[in-house]
Amino acid sequence: MLSARMHLQVISSGSKGNCALVRAGEVRALVDAGLSGPELEARLERAGLPPPSTDRKTLHHVWVTHGHLDHARSAGKVARSHRALLHCAESLMGNAAIRRCRNLSTLKVGGTQELDGLVVRNVAIPHDAHPTVAFRIEHEGRVAAILTDMGRPDDGVARALADAHLLVLEFNHDLGMLERGPYPAMLKKRVSGDGGHLSNEQSAQMLRKLAGANLHTLVLAHLSETNNRPELAREVAERTLAELGLAARVRVVIASQDAIGENLAV
Ligand SMILES: [Zn+2]
Ligand SMILES: [Zn+2]
Repeated sequence: MLSARMHLQVISSGSKGNCALVRAGEVRALVDAGLSGPELEARLERAGLPPPSTDRKTLHHVWVTHGHLDHARSAGKVARSHRALLHCAESLMGNAAIRRCRNLSTLKVGGTQELDGLVVRNVAIPHDAHPTVAFRIEHEGRVAAILTDMGRPDDGVARALADAHLLVLEFNHDLGMLERGPYPAMLKKRVSGDGGHLSNEQSAQMLRKLAGANLHTLVLAHLSETNNRPELAREVAERTLAELGLAARVRVVIASQDAIGENLAV
């Protein structure tokens, strides 16, 4: 049995699919559903989510950060099969991956929702799918923040996601590896541009803005398999935490593309 304390488990992280499972008391929710339906269901079952049932809700909410397929691919399907309410920006309502679910709720970008004991705030972030949001989820005084797919560091975003106990933060690429790597020039420009993804050093800048007195767990997320290495991202994160005097207090966890992560207490 889980305690009332909120837990977050990364189900998949990276350009092939993103999903995080949040459990808070009796409430179960996903942030993003970017794997294929069968793969996502298999991983959710491994994480202990009850299989879909026709007579009860096995999942209560699915929140979608943006319309890129690695985040939205099976959002409608999984929300429908688990009888969950799907929350997304109005401009995504017609998206083929979303409209498979009829139980839709319009996400007001920049707004705050209070439901089922959760306070869920979203904030618009710079990325080349409009809109893209990050989430701050609070339950009984505990806060998890999820911030990936961000083109550049931003003070306002950091303020909106303040006071997290657990922070899932994009560490997408090492700039040198991206520049020397195999991507075509256009794609390199997109990834490193203001509407692309955070480099390890940009993630460190965001970490400096975001790390507060509550932070105990930092999850490095959405690592590029081509343009980053887990040990490089970890080195930058741990060096930044040491500069902030937080190295002894904050645990660093690397989210995986290929396997579900540990169920982390928030
Ligand atoms: Zn993505
Ligand atoms: Zn994206």
